[in-house]
Amino acid sequence: MSAKRDIVSVVTGGAGFLGSHLCDLLLGQGHRVVCLDNLLTGSVANIEHLAGHSRFQFIHQDVTDYLYLRGPVDNIFHFASPASPIDYLEFPIQTLKVGALGTHKALGLARAKQSCFLLASTSETYGDPEVHPQPETYWGHVNPIGPRGVYDEAKRFAEALTMAYHRFHGLNTHIARIFNTYGPRMRPRDGRVVPAFITQALQGEPLTVFGDGHQTRSFCYVADLIEGIGRLAQCDYHEPVNLGNPQEMTVLQFAERIRALCGSRAEIVHRPLPVDDPKVRQPNIALARQQLGWEPRVSLDEGLEKTIAYFRGLLARGQL
Ligand code: UDP
Repeated sequence: MSAKRDIVSVVTGGAGFLGSHLCDLLLGQGHRVVCLDNLLTGSVANIEHLAGHSRFQFIHQDVTDYLYLRGPVDNIFHFASPASPIDYLEFPIQTLKVGALGTHKALGLARAKQSCFLLASTSETYGDPEVHPQPETYWGHVNPIGPRGVYDEAKRFAEALTMAYHRFHGLNTHIARIFNTYGPRMRPRDGRVVPAFITQALQGEPLTVFGDGHQTRSFCYVADLIEGIGRLAQCDYHEPVNLGNPQEMTVLQFAERIRALCGSRAEIVHRPLPVDDPKVRQPNIALARQQLGWEPRVSLDEGLEKTIAYFRGLLARGQL
């Protein structure tokens, strides 16, 4: 009788914000985890606590290059991508390449190994939505040539490619449409609203609200999101599933909440609204409830307290 081997999971972008939390979840479930990352926007600081773990391996690799791994692979979680609007501006070509070529390489590896494949897709596939809240059946309203188009279109292509591998090659694939998620390990200066407002509030700098601040977002705590990813990977449903927290608020309300939780009296200033900034965003999570028995559990205040504590730690160590 052969000895039972560990489940092997590959996480592309495993040194990023979401990828590193996913590595933690999978290691906790007893998997062997291979983390691939080119560290363009990810950071070894996010996985340094895993150094020396007997079931964890980090490979510094660009997933748009040919992927070769020895031995069996049971799951591939494709999370590699820049994920903040200022990163798309700084790395437009890399963003397109990782969503398109990187997804092709990751799917090719999944096919070669007959692995289960999960794509980290995004609410950006809905663009600036004209249907609200957004169900998975909505096809979106995306500007293909705007500054965000490099991300939106790459992810839309990635979804199309994933469904083609599922339908044509019979691969076991899953697509998570991830809505705004926050928590420890977000990059302090990645330009997204959560690290921006928290670092500003903690340092007594003005909170920069873009536009009039009446645009809305719905924020999900990272632990909830990652739990949903784990469930999606194991279910028998292959079309896209929204994962996010439906609690919606305006960016201005969000700034005020963060300021209060940080105990800051920093002022709120307005800055120009970025091009194609979606006016509303809220996931319809009926499908996730039905297919995965999943819904977020962590309240906004609880999640923000943990996130603020993380950024306070960085501030105390001079890392902001
Ligand atoms: N935003 C803001 N101030 C900032 C950063 C972002 O008002 O310093 C706004 C941004 O215009 C958007 C929302 O916050 O309406 C969320 O932006 P983020 O970059 O976090 O992600 P998005 O949801 O736009 O992809």
